[in-house]
Amino acid sequence: MVKLMEKLTHDIVIVGAGIAGLRAAIAAAETSSNLDIAVVSKVYPVRSHSVCAQGGTAAVLREGDSYDLHAWDTVKGSDFLADQDVVEFFVRKAPEEIIVLEHWGCPWSRTDDGKINQRPFGGHSFPRACFAADMTGFHEMHTLYGKAGEYGNIKFYDEWFVTSIIVENNIVAGLTAIELRTGRMQVFRAKAVIMATGGYARIYEFTTFSHTATGDGMAMAYRAGVPLKDMEFIQFHPTGMVPSGILITGGARGEGGYLINAKGERFMKHYAPEKMELAPRDIVSRAETTEIMEGRGIDGPYGAYIALDLRHLGEEKINERLPLIRDVAIKLSGVDPVKEPIPIRPAAHYSMGGIHANIKTETPVAGFYAAGECACHNVHGANRLGTNSTSDCLVFGAVAGEEAAKYALSNGFREIPQEKLAAEERRVFDEILGSEGDERVPIIRNEMRRIMSQRVWIFRKGDELQNALKEIRTLKERFKNIRVEDKGEAFNTGLVAALQLDFTLDLAEVTIASALARTESRGAHTRLDYPKRDDENWLKHTLAYYTKEGPRLEYIPVTITKWPPTARKY
Ligand SMILES: Cc1cc2nc3c(=O)[nH]c(=O)nc-3n(C[C@H](O)[C@H](O)[C@H](O)COP(=O)(O)OP(=O)(O)OC[C@H]3O[C@@H](n4cnc5c(N)ncnc54)[C@H](O)[C@@H]3O)c2cc1C
Repeated sequence: MVKLMEKLTHDIVIVGAGIAGLRAAIAAAETSSNLDIAVVSKVYPVRSHSVCAQGGTAAVLREGDSYDLHAWDTVKGSDFLADQDVVEFFVRKAPEEIIVLEHWGCPWSRTDDGKINQRPFGGHSFPRACFAADMTGFHEMHTLYGKAGEYGNIKFYDEWFVTSIIVENNIVAGLTAIELRTGRMQVFRAKAVIMATGGYARIYEFTTFSHTATGDGMAMAYRAGVPLKDMEFIQFHPTGMVPSGILITGGARGEGGYLINAKGERFMKHYAPEKMELAPRDIVSRAETTEIMEGRGIDGPYGAYIALDLRHLGEEKINERLPLIRDVAIKLSGVDPVKEPIPIRPAAHYSMGGIHANIKTETPVAGFYAAGECACHNVHGANRLGTNSTSDCLVFGAVAGEEAAKYALSNGFREIPQEKLAAEERRVFDEILGSEGDERVPIIRNEMRRIMSQRVWIFRKGDELQNALKEIRTLKERFKNIRVEDKGEAFNTGLVAALQLDFTLDLAEVTIASALARTESRGAHTRLDYPKRDDENWLKHTLAYYTKEGPRLEYIPVTITKWPPTARKY
């Protein structure tokens, strides 16, 4: 079933049109109008997960706050696994991004005297979350998409699914993608490629993430020989709404919301007496899970839950600051937060890990860059602070665009070997679409999510992780026997789901292998059998390299500039 491929050529190809991808495209276009830039996205750009960001974007804008304070909060939040040189760079660049978005028309919420408003957020010791009501990502995305449309040298390929990147002699040469409308696979030649494909929280069942968050770019990079870093660190958000998992922004607690157990108690006083509900996410999620495990959850038709109580904020403030939250709580949980508490539980929310990239967003492959949630530049370490991700996407999206542009201006195109293309066509059209096996995508996918949710959740144990690894490897074997019912060409969503499942199985395996090896508890990674942080042996980043037998792990040191690790208390 091998099809003929057409060749498309662009100086820079950006995969992903979320905040990171769009910001990268603008930065590259601003660097030179001679560059020919393509943005490829499997969904229409403004349907990228970034539009779901609610709470805000962190940046130092006011007197009383400082770069050092933002950096310290981030480093402490990371449980000292962040590289401090990168964090110092990040906090200095973030305010520039808020201002540039302001100039491009982002409707930031305002104070009474007309300044950009900022609200408190978990783990930040100053109110530094800039926001646009509780639809921050939505407004940022529309601002960026509008701006990107002003450049004549950015071309969008919407609803194209990238299947692989092509690397020759450790230099990027291009990528393969399926145009979903026609089902045809085509090859893009590029001098530089930027991966900006977002996170992979959809390896879990109960998650705040869109169905599209399947980590495709991470898996493609991994298969092409680029290591994945710190993949054991998955963030669980304390307030996933029951039963859908839809996010209730941390901004709800930032505005003063309480977390209450079955005894009507604000239990956070036992876990983080100073910061209470505004402690970092790893600590609040563990506290909620402990309350539920010890029988103090509130019984409900979907299992025990915790109550997020906003009633004392009053209708006016809820309508002004949290209108989306009120709307989704009424529509999807049948609860009006003005009158009743919202049922919540921790939900898989973010990946601190991702494609190994440095402060300039460079990966070990020349011409290949990574930005946004799919990348790991070591800003968030073992636990990200709320509102630091959209800032990260803006800051490192811009860096990636500039760096890729410089690279593309001084390097040429590479030849793409025909046998690589033929192999990719065989994988997609013969081995997956053409397979006549009897396994089904939804069944294997649900099984993967069940394993990850039962054994690789907030509290982990060595024997459970061992079992999970075995079970995921069995699923990988079963996947070889897959059958996609729809053999058609136009918008074959069955094929897309199978390709995504194949990617997530690799990522689940890397996550478990990395978690099993790390015999300590740090940030979001909690091992019941190794409950303490172990700086002597584990103050280091995990790198996972692809091999046929499964990931091979290596380690690299953490960069400490000003803040030696201390006990982490809130
Ligand atoms: C509900 C929710 C609320 C959040 N709220 C906040 C917040 O308030 N503040 C904050 O800082 N962070 C927040 N986050 C986190 C933050 O929104 C994300 O980390 C960030 O938006 C990721 O952006 P991105 O540009 O990396 O990727 P995404 O926005 O996820 O975009 C990924 C892009 O890659 C494309 N893509 C993926 N795979 C392929 C493929 N195979 N082929 C072609 N294209 C592909 C997609 O089409 C898409 O365009 C939130 C996250 C969620 C889920």
